[in-house]
Amino acid sequence: MTQTYRITLLPGDGIGPEITRVAVAVMEAVGQALDLAFEFTEAPIGGCAIDLTGEPLPAATLDQCRQSDAVLLAAIGGYKWDELPSHQRPERGLLGLRAGLGLFANLRPAKILPQLIDASTLKREVVEGVDIMVVRELTGGIYFGEPKGIFETETGEKRGVSTMVYGEGEIDRIARVAFETAKRRKGQLCSVDKANVLDVSQLWRSRVSAIAADYPEVTLSHLYVDNAAMQLVRAPKQFDTIVTGNLFGDILSDAAAMLTGSIGMLPSASLGVPGTPGVFEPVHGSAPDIAGQDKANPLAHVLSAAMMLRYALDQPVAADRIEAAVNTVLDRGYRTGDIMAEGMTLVGCQAMGDALLEAIAAAN
Ligand code: NAD
Repeated sequence: MTQTYRITLLPGDGIGPEITRVAVAVMEAVGQALDLAFEFTEAPIGGCAIDLTGEPLPAATLDQCRQSDAVLLAAIGGYKWDELPSHQRPERGLLGLRAGLGLFANLRPAKILPQLIDASTLKREVVEGVDIMVVRELTGGIYFGEPKGIFETETGEKRGVSTMVYGEGEIDRIARVAFETAKRRKGQLCSVDKANVLDVSQLWRSRVSAIAADYPEVTLSHLYVDNAAMQLVRAPKQFDTIVTGNLFGDILSDAAAMLTGSIGMLPSASLGVPGTPGVFEPVHGSAPDIAGQDKANPLAHVLSAAMMLRYALDQPVAADRIEAAVNTVLDRGYRTGDIMAEGMTLVGCQAMGDALLEAIAAAN
């Protein structure tokens, strides 16, 4: 029997609608080949939602997301809404979506594609074969901990305070996501903290170590964050899956992403507790400078759809097919402007989509 999944599409602003069209066509083609059906429902978020309803995240959009199996979000924002006060800006829509769905885990892969090795600023022999997944805690730690603020002392001096706090429950749930993720990869998990200095990191380390007992198939190691940053640029191939808190993850996931050198190629996932829909989206923004010109690279969004199939819908074969199609089009020399190199064929967003469909059909 055909398996049907309900997917909420949030195309958003800028290049969002163009890259969404490609991602949907690719999912439908793979679905047909593997007897999977998708019920797509589109909803507004970000600037387009502000134009329609005055709100960056209308209640109906959040409800629609809650009722689906997974959410495919493109990008939000643009010049038109830049002057709005911060509580009305498109970005508020993203924060509201994360809070509304309880998305506490952010997964950011950094995989070097052999065809794009020269886009990296690091030497070929250092980055060739890099395939890292950073699992970052997203809703706790120093970005949210209390007390926080700028306070005046008795002497009149101002003091800025932010507090890094993690409860056992918060650590346990992100650790489980990370172990599950590592299990689907090479089975190596590196937990990154600052346990030599921070008490909160000592609790982090002891909880992650305790949870490891439930995952005998995963090998756990620990690194201090300063060493992890060094190792990421010195010898990134030693990493498979990394798990870390909000602040360290913010920094390390960007550093890991830049090993690949191409922002138009990077997907991501944000997950909540099992049973709630995850949100899958490219790392890049809405690229208003090239919106509507058929110049956008749709591959990060297409790879986000592959992540959705792998991590939310448990359809690894479909995910593999999409990733293989991306490989094929790059092998054939197709490049959008952002990843263009000498001797390659420059194509637009739509033509890249057509090339993907051709690759999927040829693989059937
Ligand atoms: P951006 O990622 O949109 O663009 C940075 C540069 O990369 C631009 O030159 C753009 O043309 C290029 N680029 C990005 N994605 C591309 C793609 N798929 N194909 C080809 N080129 C691509 O970042 P920005 O310029 O800092 O922000 C633009 C808008 O996007 C802002 O309103 C910002 O708030 C928003 N933004 C949204 C998200 C999100 O939705 N998650 C993330 C970052 C920025």
